[in-house]
Amino acid sequence: MEDKKKLAAPCGLYCGVCGILMAHRDNNVKFKERLAPVYGVNPEDIRCEGCLSDDVFFYCKVCPIKDCVGQKGIEGCHQCDEFPCRIIEDFPIPVGKKVILRSIPAWRKLGTEKWIEEEERRYHCPNCGYEVFRGAKKCRNCKESLDLD
Ligand code: SF4
Ligand code: SF4
Ligand SMILES: [Zn+2]
Repeated sequence: MEDKKKLAAPCGLYCGVCGILMAHRDNNVKFKERLAPVYGVNPEDIRCEGCLSDDVFFYCKVCPIKDCVGQKGIEGCHQCDEFPCRIIEDFPIPVGKKVILRSIPAWRKLGTEKWIEEEERRYHCPNCGYEVFRGAKKCRNCKESLDLD
């Protein structure tokens, strides 16, 4: 669980179910090639070991939420009374914002360990049980359409 706590991104977008982290972890070149144009980067830039690691993806490195949490000296937005603040309201990716608005209250309610378990349980195909990444529209294993946020 200690390792997984490093994946507890302060914004509530749990890094353990992030496609970028999974593609890098699995050294999955095809998956990297598919993700690269989504973020407007080269496939070799699709790499990350999590928000709290030393090897953080390009965009997540310069995150105003992470900066804000750092300045407040808290672990995440679940410990902040201002949630959902202007930074969250202005989050540039609609799906990400939707997930944050679901995930932070869940983190607050469950505590870190249970919340991580719950996020990991959530991102599996309801049809075949295969691991899926946040934002996936289809299961990579059985091709079932997915609608997980
Ligand atoms: S890209 Fe962002 S959300 Fe994905 S694992 Fe890295 S820090 Fe976490
Ligand atoms: S002010 Fe906003 S970004 Fe900063 S910790 Fe609170 S909820 Fe998170
Ligand atoms: Zn499936």
